[in-house]
Amino acid sequence: MFDIIVKGGTLPDGRISDIGIRDGKIVAIEALEAEASEVIDAKGDLVSPPFVDPHFHMDATLSYGKPRINASGTLLEGIGLWGELKDVMQPEEVKARALEYCDWAASMGLLAIRSHVDTCDDRLMGVEALLEVRREVADYIDLQLVAFPQDGLYRDPTAFENTIRALDMGVDVVGGIPHLERTMADGARSVTALCEIAAERGLMVDMHCDETDDPMSRHIETLAFETQRLGLQGRVAGSHLTSMHSMDNYYVSKLLPLMAEAQVAAIPNPLINIVLQGRHDTYPKRRGLTRVKEMQAMGIAVGWGQDCVLDPWYSLGTADMLDVAFMGLHVGQMTSPEEMRRCFDMVTNVNAQIMGLEDYGLRVGAKASLVVLDAGNPIEALRLRPDRLCVIAKGKVISRKRRNDADLSLPGRPGTVRRRHDGHS
Ligand SMILES: [Zn+2]
Repeated sequence: MFDIIVKGGTLPDGRISDIGIRDGKIVAIEALEAEASEVIDAKGDLVSPPFVDPHFHMDATLSYGKPRINASGTLLEGIGLWGELKDVMQPEEVKARALEYCDWAASMGLLAIRSHVDTCDDRLMGVEALLEVRREVADYIDLQLVAFPQDGLYRDPTAFENTIRALDMGVDVVGGIPHLERTMADGARSVTALCEIAAERGLMVDMHCDETDDPMSRHIETLAFETQRLGLQGRVAGSHLTSMHSMDNYYVSKLLPLMAEAQVAAIPNPLINIVLQGRHDTYPKRRGLTRVKEMQAMGIAVGWGQDCVLDPWYSLGTADMLDVAFMGLHVGQMTSPEEMRRCFDMVTNVNAQIMGLEDYGLRVGAKASLVVLDAGNPIEALRLRPDRLCVIAKGKVISRKRRNDADLSLPGRPGTVRRRHDGHS
């Protein structure tokens, strides 16, 4: 007897199988004839492990337009605007926005999120609000928080002590923003200090790193060096890394092996960086995506992050990690079938690996979290960014959506259309 059987779905690797769920765990992936309290028909549909977002800002989300919009569209005006908003924000409001976003995420099968939380606020209001949200959504979303000194660890007078306070309060990961410090030297110093804090406390590191078009912004080199020096291999990620887009090729040929050796992961955020980067260029205009395929060819783990939804930096966003992968696929020119499948893998398994999620995946013994999509395979899911027909979190159905075919009124043509085109994965 199972709690739930998901019947006849197509797994991302192409296998067709039933999935048996009991006591919040996946207990069988095989043809099942047994009884279940609930049977979910997934025949012809893709059954995937949940989507994972390794880079988000939940304290800023859904604040677009408050107190005004970002007129220049640049990272720096966004940071200034966020500063204005921070001064007038209230904890209940931060929490309400975050919880509303988590509703969106749940409906999209996005069940693990790493959110940076600003620690440059003496009240640490965002930290308190998101710690509460982490508790309240724990039954359906794994929320991992990163202590993020948004205004610079050394540039902001109280950022250092506030970042330590946030970690003491239970924030999970150490963040940073070396390219925003006053000098390159201060940036490098901040990387060293933050990695040492992570090493002392046994924590992971995820820094906003080199989010600039300046090819001389090379903090990723220091991050890889400190990772190795402090024995943090496999626990460190560099987010954005957009300066690598503009770097000299010879220098990159030295940098990539250093990153691979240190097992530093990379988290590009293609939706936000395609709109933020290159704003100081005329033409040709740089695209602001780091060297994804080149890193993957070196064995570096690269996941796609979403970063922003309706906030001072980004005016759109839907909590759909397939939108993120779709943009990354285009900007990174990852168009071969193998590369497209890899893009889907990046927003599921690779992101989970970067976040260090245990019990993740479609395998016996893993946590019973999965999503049924109105698509036949991962490539079709990227093309359609389809409805999530059913979302299961830790053994419970938390969201359902009716299949939404269009009714056609065209003489001699079929009555309905779904835009599926199965059989070519
Ligand atoms: Zn970010």
